[in-house]
Amino acid sequence: MRFPFKQAERLLDQLINHGFGAYIVGGAVRDYLLGRPIHDIDIATSARPADVVSLFKRTIPVGIDHGTVAVLSGGKTYEITTFRSEAAYEDYRHPSQVAFVSSVDQDLMRRDFTINALAMDRTGKIIDLFNGQRDLRMKRIRTVGCAEERISEDPLRIMRGMRFASELEFTLGSSERHAFRKQAVLLKNISIERVNQEMTRLLAGKAATQALRLLFETQCIHVLPLLEQADAKEVLDVHFTVLRSDAERWTAFLSALGIKDSYAFAKAWKWSNRLRQQTAHLLDLLKLRKAQAWTRETIYSDGPDNANAADRVCAALGMILQSSLADRESDVRRIWEACPIHSRAELAATGNEFKQWANKRPGPWLAQVISELEREVVNERVKNETEEIRLWFKEWSTQQKEQF
Ligand code: ATP
Ligand code: MG
Repeated sequence: MRFPFKQAERLLDQLINHGFGAYIVGGAVRDYLLGRPIHDIDIATSARPADVVSLFKRTIPVGIDHGTVAVLSGGKTYEITTFRSEAAYEDYRHPSQVAFVSSVDQDLMRRDFTINALAMDRTGKIIDLFNGQRDLRMKRIRTVGCAEERISEDPLRIMRGMRFASELEFTLGSSERHAFRKQAVLLKNISIERVNQEMTRLLAGKAATQALRLLFETQCIHVLPLLEQADAKEVLDVHFTVLRSDAERWTAFLSALGIKDSYAFAKAWKWSNRLRQQTAHLLDLLKLRKAQAWTRETIYSDGPDNANAADRVCAALGMILQSSLADRESDVRRIWEACPIHSRAELAATGNEFKQWANKRPGPWLAQVISELEREVVNERVKNETEEIRLWFKEWSTQQKEQF
Protein backbone atom coordinates (compact mmCIF):
# COMPACT_ATOMS: atom_id res chain seq x y z
CA MET A 1 0.00 0.00 0.00
CA ARG A 2 1.16 3.48 -0.84
CA PHE A 3 1.46 6.13 1.86
CA PRO A 4 -1.24 8.66 1.00
CA PHE A 5 -0.46 11.54 3.40
CA LYS A 6 2.16 13.22 1.23
CA GLN A 7 2.47 16.42 3.26
CA ALA A 8 3.07 14.52 6.49
CA GLU A 9 5.86 12.30 5.08
CA ARG A 10 8.57 14.73 6.10
CA LEU A 11 7.36 14.79 9.70
CA LEU A 12 7.16 11.01 10.04
CA ASP A 13 10.59 10.63 8.43
CA GLN A 14 12.12 13.11 10.84
CA LEU A 15 10.77 11.14 13.82
CA ILE A 16 11.64 7.73 12.36
CA ASN A 17 15.17 8.81 11.38
CA HIS A 18 15.76 9.71 15.01
CA GLY A 19 14.72 6.26 16.14
CA PHE A 20 11.14 6.97 17.16
CA GLY A 21 7.97 5.18 16.15
CA ALA A 22 5.54 7.42 14.27
CA TYR A 23 2.09 6.83 12.77
CA ILE A 24 -0.85 8.71 11.32
CA VAL A 25 -3.77 8.03 13.66
CA GLY A 26 -7.46 8.63 14.26
CA GLY A 27 -9.76 10.65 12.06
CA ALA A 28 -7.34 11.10 9.16
CA VAL A 29 -6.95 7.33 8.67
CA ARG A 30 -10.69 6.78 9.06
CA ASP A 31 -11.58 9.51 6.58
CA TYR A 32 -8.94 8.36 4.11
CA LEU A 33 -10.36 4.81 4.15
CA LEU A 34 -13.86 6.21 3.70
CA GLY A 35 -12.75 8.44 0.82
CA ARG A 36 -13.88 11.51 2.74
CA PRO A 37 -12.05 14.84 2.79
CA ILE A 38 -9.32 14.95 5.42
CA HIS A 39 -9.18 18.06 7.61
CA ASP A 40 -6.48 17.52 10.15
CA ILE A 41 -3.70 15.00 10.38
CA ASP A 42 -2.78 13.67 13.81
CA ILE A 43 0.47 11.85 14.40
CA ALA A 44 1.20 9.49 17.31
CA THR A 45 4.79 8.83 18.25
CA SER A 46 7.03 7.21 20.83
CA ALA A 47 8.97 10.50 21.04
CA ARG A 48 8.35 12.52 24.19
CA PRO A 49 7.09 16.11 23.86
CA ALA A 50 10.57 17.49 24.59
CA ASP A 51 12.01 15.35 21.77
CA VAL A 52 9.32 16.56 19.39
CA VAL A 53 10.03 20.18 20.29
CA SER A 54 13.74 19.69 19.64
CA LEU A 55 13.22 17.85 16.32
CA PHE A 56 11.12 20.52 14.61
CA LYS A 57 11.72 24.19 13.94
CA ARG A 58 8.26 25.57 14.49
CA THR A 59 6.29 24.06 17.36
CA ILE A 60 3.52 25.16 19.71
CA PRO A 61 3.10 23.41 23.07
CA VAL A 62 -0.68 23.02 22.77
CA GLY A 63 -1.08 20.27 25.36
CA ILE A 64 2.29 19.29 26.72
CA ASP A 65 0.71 17.73 29.84
CA HIS A 66 -1.23 15.37 27.62
CA GLY A 67 1.74 14.83 25.37
CA THR A 68 0.65 16.99 22.45
CA VAL A 69 2.85 19.37 20.48
CA ALA A 70 1.61 21.16 17.38
CA VAL A 71 4.11 21.33 14.55
CA LEU A 72 3.83 23.84 11.72
CA SER A 73 5.00 22.54 8.38
CA GLY A 74 4.29 23.64 4.83
CA GLY A 75 1.60 26.06 5.99
CA LYS A 76 -0.28 23.35 7.91
CA THR A 77 -0.47 22.42 11.58
CA TYR A 78 -0.03 18.83 12.70
CA GLU A 79 -0.65 17.57 16.22
CA ILE A 80 2.03 15.16 17.32
CA THR A 81 1.06 13.25 20.46
CA THR A 82 3.22 10.89 22.46
CA PHE A 83 1.80 7.34 22.73
CA ARG A 84 -0.17 7.34 25.94
CA SER A 85 -2.72 5.45 27.92
CA GLU A 86 -5.31 7.12 30.05
CA ALA A 87 -5.60 6.05 33.64
CA ALA A 88 -8.64 6.69 35.79
CA TYR A 89 -10.99 9.52 34.87
CA GLU A 90 -11.96 11.35 38.02
CA ASP A 91 -14.02 14.30 36.95
CA TYR A 92 -15.44 12.98 33.66
CA ARG A 93 -13.44 15.65 31.91
CA HIS A 94 -9.82 14.80 31.79
CA PRO A 95 -8.04 11.63 32.65
CA SER A 96 -6.56 12.19 36.08
CA GLN A 97 -3.30 10.75 34.90
CA VAL A 98 -1.74 10.39 31.54
CA ALA A 99 0.88 7.73 31.27
CA PHE A 100 3.24 7.69 28.31
CA VAL A 101 3.56 4.21 26.86
CA SER A 102 5.95 2.66 24.41
CA SER A 103 3.75 1.07 21.76
CA VAL A 104 1.19 2.31 19.32
CA ASP A 105 -1.00 -0.67 20.30
CA GLN A 106 -1.44 0.65 23.82
CA ASP A 107 -2.16 4.10 22.43
CA LEU A 108 -4.90 2.75 20.18
CA MET A 109 -6.59 1.06 23.14
CA ARG A 110 -7.43 4.40 24.79
CA ARG A 111 -9.30 5.66 21.75
CA ASP A 112 -13.08 5.90 21.73
CA PHE A 113 -14.41 4.00 18.72
CA THR A 114 -12.99 1.19 16.60
CA ILE A 115 -13.20 3.39 13.51
CA ASN A 116 -11.07 6.01 15.31
CA ALA A 117 -8.56 3.49 16.64
CA LEU A 118 -6.79 2.98 13.33
CA ALA A 119 -3.18 3.86 12.64
CA MET A 120 -1.15 3.93 9.44
CA ASP A 121 2.60 3.43 9.36
CA ARG A 122 5.07 5.09 6.98
CA THR A 123 4.68 2.25 4.44
CA GLY A 124 0.92 2.72 4.29
CA LYS A 125 0.15 -0.39 6.35
CA ILE A 126 -2.95 -0.12 8.53
CA ILE A 127 -2.84 -1.16 12.16
CA ASP A 128 -6.29 -2.25 13.13
CA LEU A 129 -6.50 -4.06 16.46
CA PHE A 130 -10.25 -3.83 16.98
CA ASN A 131 -11.75 -4.55 13.55
CA GLY A 132 -12.25 -0.89 12.81
CA GLN A 133 -12.08 -1.56 9.06
CA ARG A 134 -14.88 -4.09 9.32
CA ASP A 135 -16.96 -1.51 11.20
CA LEU A 136 -16.21 1.04 8.49
CA ARG A 137 -17.54 -1.42 5.92
CA MET A 138 -20.57 -2.20 8.05
CA LYS A 139 -21.09 1.51 8.74
CA ARG A 140 -21.21 0.91 12.45
CA ILE A 141 -20.05 2.82 15.53
CA ARG A 142 -18.62 0.50 18.18
CA THR A 143 -16.53 1.42 21.20
CA VAL A 144 -13.07 0.01 21.75
CA GLY A 145 -13.74 -2.53 24.51
CA CYS A 146 -16.74 -2.59 26.82
CA ALA A 147 -19.18 0.16 25.89
CA GLU A 148 -20.40 0.74 29.43
CA GLU A 149 -16.90 1.10 30.79
CA ARG A 150 -15.79 3.42 28.04
CA ILE A 151 -18.85 5.65 28.50
CA SER A 152 -18.44 5.81 32.25
CA GLU A 153 -14.82 6.89 31.75
CA ASP A 154 -15.87 9.73 29.49
CA PRO A 155 -19.59 10.26 28.82
CA LEU A 156 -18.84 12.81 26.08
CA ARG A 157 -18.31 9.70 23.96
CA ILE A 158 -22.11 9.36 23.84
CA MET A 159 -22.38 12.67 22.02
CA ARG A 160 -19.35 11.90 19.87
CA GLY A 161 -20.87 8.56 18.89
CA MET A 162 -24.14 10.21 17.88
CA ARG A 163 -22.26 12.94 16.02
CA PHE A 164 -20.22 10.40 14.04
CA ALA A 165 -23.45 8.48 13.30
CA SER A 166 -24.82 11.69 11.80
CA GLU A 167 -21.73 12.82 9.90
CA LEU A 168 -20.77 9.40 8.52
CA GLU A 169 -24.34 8.06 8.15
CA PHE A 170 -23.47 5.14 10.44
CA THR A 171 -25.56 3.14 12.92
CA LEU A 172 -24.77 2.38 16.56
CA GLY A 173 -23.79 -1.11 17.64
CA SER A 174 -26.35 -2.73 19.91
CA SER A 175 -24.25 -2.78 23.07
CA GLU A 176 -23.39 0.88 22.45
CA ARG A 177 -27.07 1.67 22.14
CA HIS A 178 -27.77 -0.10 25.45
CA ALA A 179 -24.85 1.57 27.18
CA PHE A 180 -25.83 5.03 25.93
CA ARG A 181 -29.34 4.52 27.23
CA LYS A 182 -28.24 3.11 30.56
CA GLN A 183 -25.71 5.84 31.17
CA ALA A 184 -27.46 8.80 29.56
CA VAL A 185 -27.58 10.62 32.88
CA LEU A 186 -23.77 10.83 33.00
CA LEU A 187 -23.95 13.41 30.22
CA LYS A 188 -24.91 15.89 32.93
CA ASN A 189 -21.29 15.80 34.06
CA ILE A 190 -19.96 17.02 30.74
CA SER A 191 -19.38 20.70 30.11
CA ILE A 192 -22.18 22.13 28.03
CA GLU A 193 -19.71 23.77 25.64
CA ARG A 194 -18.48 20.36 24.56
CA VAL A 195 -21.99 18.93 24.32
CA ASN A 196 -23.00 21.97 22.27
CA GLN A 197 -20.06 21.49 19.95
CA GLU A 198 -21.03 17.86 19.27
CA MET A 199 -24.75 18.64 18.96
CA THR A 200 -24.05 21.46 16.49
CA ARG A 201 -22.01 19.07 14.36
CA LEU A 202 -24.66 16.38 14.73
CA LEU A 203 -27.33 18.71 13.33
CA ALA A 204 -25.05 19.51 10.39
CA GLY A 205 -24.42 15.86 9.52
CA LYS A 206 -25.95 14.09 6.55
CA ALA A 207 -27.91 11.75 8.81
CA ALA A 208 -28.98 14.31 11.43
CA THR A 209 -32.48 12.87 11.63
CA GLN A 210 -31.27 9.32 12.25
CA ALA A 211 -28.87 10.58 14.92
CA LEU A 212 -31.65 12.58 16.58
CA ARG A 213 -33.78 9.44 16.54
CA LEU A 214 -30.98 7.68 18.42
CA LEU A 215 -30.83 10.54 20.92
CA PHE A 216 -34.54 10.09 21.59
CA GLU A 217 -34.48 6.28 21.60
CA THR A 218 -31.67 6.23 24.13
CA GLN A 219 -33.35 9.04 26.10
CA CYS A 220 -30.09 10.95 26.02
CA ILE A 221 -31.90 13.98 24.65
CA HIS A 222 -33.84 14.42 27.88
CA VAL A 223 -30.70 14.80 29.93
CA LEU A 224 -29.64 17.88 27.97
CA PRO A 225 -30.48 21.38 29.25
CA LEU A 226 -34.00 22.62 28.44
CA LEU A 227 -34.75 19.46 26.46
CA GLU A 228 -36.23 17.49 29.38
CA GLN A 229 -39.68 17.66 27.74
CA ALA A 230 -38.54 17.52 24.12
CA ASP A 231 -40.99 15.66 21.91
CA ALA A 232 -39.57 13.53 19.11
CA LYS A 233 -42.58 13.85 16.85
CA GLU A 234 -41.99 17.25 15.34
CA VAL A 235 -38.24 17.34 15.31
CA LEU A 236 -37.82 14.03 13.50
CA ASP A 237 -39.77 15.46 10.55
CA VAL A 238 -37.39 18.37 10.06
CA HIS A 239 -35.42 18.27 6.78
CA PHE A 240 -32.11 19.42 8.21
CA THR A 241 -30.23 18.78 4.99
CA VAL A 242 -31.71 21.81 3.21
CA LEU A 243 -30.19 24.10 5.84
CA ARG A 244 -26.85 25.79 5.35
CA SER A 245 -25.68 27.28 8.64
CA ASP A 246 -25.62 26.41 12.33
CA ALA A 247 -28.06 29.24 13.04
CA GLU A 248 -30.51 27.88 10.45
CA ARG A 249 -30.28 24.38 11.93
CA TRP A 250 -30.73 25.51 15.51
CA THR A 251 -33.63 27.76 14.45
CA ALA A 252 -35.38 24.79 12.84
CA PHE A 253 -34.61 22.62 15.87
CA LEU A 254 -35.99 25.13 18.39
CA SER A 255 -39.05 25.91 16.25
CA ALA A 256 -39.89 22.26 15.76
CA LEU A 257 -39.72 21.70 19.50
CA GLY A 258 -41.78 24.80 20.23
CA ILE A 259 -38.97 26.37 22.28
CA LYS A 260 -39.81 30.05 22.21
CA ASP A 261 -37.20 31.56 24.49
CA SER A 262 -34.07 31.26 22.39
CA TYR A 263 -32.17 33.58 24.78
CA ALA A 264 -32.71 31.21 27.70
CA PHE A 265 -31.62 28.32 25.47
CA ALA A 266 -28.54 30.20 24.27
CA LYS A 267 -27.62 30.93 27.87
CA ALA A 268 -28.10 27.36 29.08
CA TRP A 269 -26.10 26.02 26.13
CA LYS A 270 -23.46 28.75 26.36
CA TRP A 271 -23.76 29.72 22.73
CA SER A 272 -21.49 32.34 21.22
CA ASN A 273 -23.05 35.80 20.96
CA ARG A 274 -23.00 35.44 17.22
CA LEU A 275 -25.01 32.20 17.20
CA ARG A 276 -27.42 33.60 19.79
CA GLN A 277 -28.07 36.76 17.77
CA GLN A 278 -28.34 35.01 14.42
CA THR A 279 -30.77 32.42 15.79
CA ALA A 280 -32.93 35.02 17.57
CA HIS A 281 -33.03 37.06 14.36
CA LEU A 282 -33.97 34.07 12.22
CA LEU A 283 -36.72 33.07 14.66
CA ASP A 284 -38.16 36.60 14.36
CA LEU A 285 -37.97 36.48 10.58
CA LEU A 286 -39.63 33.07 10.59
CA LYS A 287 -42.53 34.48 12.60
CA LEU A 288 -42.83 37.32 10.13
CA ARG A 289 -42.65 34.95 7.19
CA LYS A 290 -45.43 32.82 8.65
CA ALA A 291 -47.67 35.88 8.87
CA GLN A 292 -47.09 37.35 5.41
CA ALA A 293 -45.11 37.21 2.18
CA TRP A 294 -41.82 39.11 2.01
CA THR A 295 -42.15 42.84 1.63
CA ARG A 296 -39.62 45.29 0.26
CA GLU A 297 -39.18 46.70 3.72
CA THR A 298 -38.15 43.43 5.32
CA ILE A 299 -35.89 42.45 2.47
CA TYR A 300 -34.31 45.92 2.63
CA SER A 301 -33.82 45.90 6.39
CA ASP A 302 -32.82 42.25 6.86
CA GLY A 303 -31.06 41.65 3.58
CA PRO A 304 -31.73 38.96 0.97
CA ASP A 305 -29.43 36.41 2.62
CA ASN A 306 -31.47 36.38 5.81
CA ALA A 307 -34.70 36.17 3.86
CA ASN A 308 -33.36 33.17 1.95
CA ALA A 309 -32.23 31.58 5.22
CA ALA A 310 -35.69 32.02 6.71
CA ASP A 311 -37.23 30.45 3.58
CA ARG A 312 -34.90 27.47 3.95
CA VAL A 313 -36.00 27.07 7.56
CA CYS A 314 -39.63 27.16 6.36
CA ALA A 315 -38.81 24.39 3.88
CA ALA A 316 -37.02 22.35 6.56
CA LEU A 317 -40.12 22.63 8.74
CA GLY A 318 -42.37 21.52 5.88
CA MET A 319 -44.19 24.86 5.72
CA ILE A 320 -43.24 25.27 2.08
CA LEU A 321 -42.04 22.80 -0.51
CA GLN A 322 -38.31 22.26 -0.83
CA SER A 323 -38.76 22.31 -4.58
CA SER A 324 -40.07 25.89 -4.37
CA LEU A 325 -36.88 27.24 -2.79
CA ALA A 326 -35.19 28.20 -6.05
CA ASP A 327 -38.26 30.21 -7.09
CA ARG A 328 -38.37 31.88 -3.72
CA GLU A 329 -34.75 32.85 -3.99
CA SER A 330 -35.41 34.55 -7.30
CA ASP A 331 -38.45 36.32 -5.82
CA VAL A 332 -36.27 37.63 -2.99
CA ARG A 333 -33.61 38.72 -5.48
CA ARG A 334 -36.20 40.52 -7.61
CA ILE A 335 -37.59 42.39 -4.60
CA TRP A 336 -34.06 43.31 -3.47
CA GLU A 337 -33.06 44.52 -6.90
CA ALA A 338 -36.22 46.60 -7.15
CA CYS A 339 -35.34 48.51 -3.97
CA PRO A 340 -34.22 52.03 -5.02
CA ILE A 341 -31.56 51.94 -2.28
CA HIS A 342 -29.80 49.06 -0.51
CA SER A 343 -28.48 50.88 2.52
CA ARG A 344 -28.81 54.09 4.43
CA ALA A 345 -25.56 55.33 2.93
CA GLU A 346 -27.21 55.46 -0.48
CA LEU A 347 -29.79 58.06 0.61
CA ALA A 348 -29.39 61.30 -1.37
CA ALA A 349 -29.41 63.35 1.84
CA THR A 350 -27.07 63.16 4.79
CA GLY A 351 -27.49 63.92 8.48
CA ASN A 352 -25.69 67.22 7.91
CA GLU A 353 -28.19 68.30 5.33
CA PHE A 354 -31.09 67.56 7.66
CA LYS A 355 -29.37 69.56 10.41
CA GLN A 356 -28.98 72.52 8.08
CA TRP A 357 -32.53 72.32 6.76
CA ALA A 358 -33.93 72.06 10.27
CA ASN A 359 -31.43 74.45 11.76
CA LYS A 360 -31.43 72.20 14.82
CA ARG A 361 -28.88 70.30 16.86
CA PRO A 362 -28.73 66.59 16.17
CA GLY A 363 -30.86 64.49 18.49
CA PRO A 364 -33.21 61.51 18.45
CA TRP A 365 -35.26 63.36 15.82
CA LEU A 366 -32.49 62.77 13.28
CA ALA A 367 -32.53 59.00 13.59
CA GLN A 368 -36.31 59.07 13.34
CA VAL A 369 -36.22 61.18 10.17
CA ILE A 370 -33.69 58.92 8.54
CA SER A 371 -35.54 55.72 9.25
CA GLU A 372 -38.84 57.19 8.09
CA LEU A 373 -37.17 58.46 4.96
CA GLU A 374 -35.68 55.02 4.29
CA ARG A 375 -39.15 53.53 4.41
CA GLU A 376 -40.54 56.18 2.08
CA VAL A 377 -37.73 55.80 -0.42
CA VAL A 378 -37.77 52.00 -0.35
CA ASN A 379 -41.50 52.04 -1.06
CA GLU A 380 -40.98 54.65 -3.78
CA ARG A 381 -43.20 57.22 -2.11
CA VAL A 382 -40.29 59.67 -2.15
CA LYS A 383 -37.69 59.80 -4.92
CA ASN A 384 -34.10 59.40 -3.81
CA GLU A 385 -33.09 62.87 -4.94
CA THR A 386 -31.86 65.65 -2.67
CA GLU A 387 -34.44 68.23 -3.67
CA GLU A 388 -37.35 65.76 -3.34
CA ILE A 389 -36.07 64.75 0.04
CA ARG A 390 -35.80 68.37 1.15
CA LEU A 391 -39.44 68.97 0.22
CA TRP A 392 -40.54 65.81 1.98
CA PHE A 393 -38.59 66.85 5.05
CA LYS A 394 -40.21 70.27 5.10
CA GLU A 395 -43.61 68.65 5.17
CA TRP A 396 -42.47 66.15 7.78
CA SER A 397 -41.24 68.99 10.04
CA THR A 398 -44.52 70.85 9.71
CA GLN A 399 -46.47 67.72 10.65
CA GLN A 400 -44.23 67.19 13.66
CA LYS A 401 -44.79 70.74 14.84
CA GLU A 402 -48.54 70.30 14.49
CA GLN A 403 -48.39 67.13 16.51
CA PHE A 404 -46.57 68.68 19.47
P1 ATP B 1 -13.03 14.91 13.52
O1 ATP B 1 -11.72 15.64 13.44
O2 ATP B 1 -13.80 14.76 12.28
O3 ATP B 1 -13.85 15.40 14.66
P2 ATP B 1 -11.51 12.86 14.75
O4 ATP B 1 -11.70 11.39 14.82
O5 ATP B 1 -10.23 13.38 14.22
O6 ATP B 1 -12.72 13.41 13.93
P3 ATP B 1 -10.90 14.35 17.12
O7 ATP B 1 -11.84 14.91 18.14
O8 ATP B 1 -10.12 15.27 16.27
O9 ATP B 1 -11.79 13.40 16.20
O10 ATP B 1 -9.96 13.35 17.89
C1 ATP B 1 -8.86 12.69 17.29
C2 ATP B 1 -8.78 11.26 17.78
O11 ATP B 1 -8.58 11.24 19.18
C3 ATP B 1 -10.03 10.44 17.54
O12 ATP B 1 -10.03 9.85 16.26
C4 ATP B 1 -9.94 9.41 18.63
O13 ATP B 1 -9.06 8.38 18.28
C5 ATP B 1 -9.31 10.19 19.78
N1 ATP B 1 -10.32 10.78 20.68
C6 ATP B 1 -10.85 12.01 20.61
N2 ATP B 1 -11.74 12.24 21.61
C7 ATP B 1 -11.74 11.12 22.33
C8 ATP B 1 -12.44 10.72 23.52
N3 ATP B 1 -13.32 11.53 24.12
N4 ATP B 1 -12.18 9.48 24.01
C9 ATP B 1 -11.27 8.67 23.40
N5 ATP B 1 -10.62 8.98 22.29
C10 ATP B 1 -10.84 10.19 21.76
MG1 MG C 1 -9.68 15.49 14.20
